[in-house]
Amino acid sequence: MLTCRDIQRLASALEDGDLGWRQKINVKIHLFICDHCRQFIRQFFIIRQLSEKSVVKLASDEEVQSIIEKINKK
Ligand SMILES: [Zn+2]
Repeated sequence: MLTCRDIQRLASALEDGDLGWRQKINVKIHLFICDHCRQFIRQFFIIRQLSEKSVVKLASDEEVQSIIEKINKK
């Protein structure tokens, strides 16, 4: 049986479809019985979708490059 911590650890793999069927079933069973993780997964997916739209898709290559340069200077 997966724990809540396992679910949080597996969240990005779950969204990317990187989990095997056995693990997917375990995740589904956990989400079925655990309100907390259902909410966590829902919020996780929403945040991922928002960040993909607003940061990755709207930033130009130059903007991304300048952010990387700023980070590297620190
Ligand atoms: Zn849980």
